[in-house]
Amino acid sequence: MSEVFDLACELIRRASLTPQDAGCQELLASRLARSGFAVERMHYGEVENLWATHGQGSPVFAFLGHTDVVPSGPREQWSTPPFEPTVRDGRLYGRGAADMKSGVAAMTIALEEFVACHPQHPGTVAMLVTSDEEGPLNLDGVRRVAEEFRRRGQRIDYCVVGEPSSAQTLGDVVRVGRRGSLSGTLTVRGVQGHVAYPEKVRNPIHLAAPALAELAATQWDRGNAEFPPTSFQISNLNAGTGALNVVPGTLEARFNFRFCTESSAQSLRERSEAILRKHGLDFSLQWDLSGEPFLTRNGKLRAAVSAAVREICGVDTVADTGGGTSDARFIAPLGGEVVEVGPVNASIHKIDEHVGLEDLERLPALYGAILAKVFGEA
Ligand SMILES: [Zn+2]
Repeated sequence: MSEVFDLACELIRRASLTPQDAGCQELLASRLARSGFAVERMHYGEVENLWATHGQGSPVFAFLGHTDVVPSGPREQWSTPPFEPTVRDGRLYGRGAADMKSGVAAMTIALEEFVACHPQHPGTVAMLVTSDEEGPLNLDGVRRVAEEFRRRGQRIDYCVVGEPSSAQTLGDVVRVGRRGSLSGTLTVRGVQGHVAYPEKVRNPIHLAAPALAELAATQWDRGNAEFPPTSFQISNLNAGTGALNVVPGTLEARFNFRFCTESSAQSLRERSEAILRKHGLDFSLQWDLSGEPFLTRNGKLRAAVSAAVREICGVDTVADTGGGTSDARFIAPLGGEVVEVGPVNASIHKIDEHVGLEDLERLPALYGAILAKVFGEA
């Protein structure tokens, strides 16, 4: 069909379950090397990362993506096998079709075309790809690469992440920031005993309940023009031995903050610990910060993306900060502008994941138009 279609199919055929890359990056690296890119493979633990650059100095424009995919789920529920790319009803089906092998294929082709047309372009164009975006910890993927970049003084001025940001049609939504995510595991200690002897027990459920209620009712901030207010949700609450006549000795609660730029991880930690102390609880609390919030203000990259979406997709884009976290959270702290723009996300992580063929065919042109606008139609 087309170059982007062929490359997307080749990537889907490689069953690259996190943290496996299954040869995807080798394929991309050899293509980019043929186009004159300097290719660096960064292996950390089980994770493969690829950093390919063309040109020198600033500005540095990088596309960011991942080659890993989430598991297919029960294969018998798929209409066609998840790792056999299949065209049906104007769509390309397969695990990773939307998240995000189409994006990776399109970014690669946009870069190849850009350097073929502008071999002497100013600054640096680059691609960064990891095989650990979908994993639970993301320790050895872009997080680790960003640490290495910081050590080297490697800047990224503009970063386009090819994650599936669109809601209904290609480009209708782009992400210009993400909320932070902070999780806590709370253990409240009491004294176990017989329910008939309340004077001899300390019931951690009774002790924790008012504190948890206060945490749930607290307004952490009011949000701002770009972000909804910070939200607090308890996801797991466990206590009890299963017996009806035993007061348990401990209670465990797990919770998560999705927080905006009006709060920080540190302020949320301090405020929640103050509430728990105020209620006199004997507790321990373990925190896990998976990312601080970030926001790319209206600048050169956002303007280029909006103009490119209008030109290639014929729609006015909405800049949004919704959704979960993405690897953009590790790149944004390096100081550049970061925007996520990619295919429709309705089927991601689902059975029968797919991308519209029309969207797939337009993606390289969309990424190419963004590049051209940032480099002033170089
Ligand atoms: Zn993704």
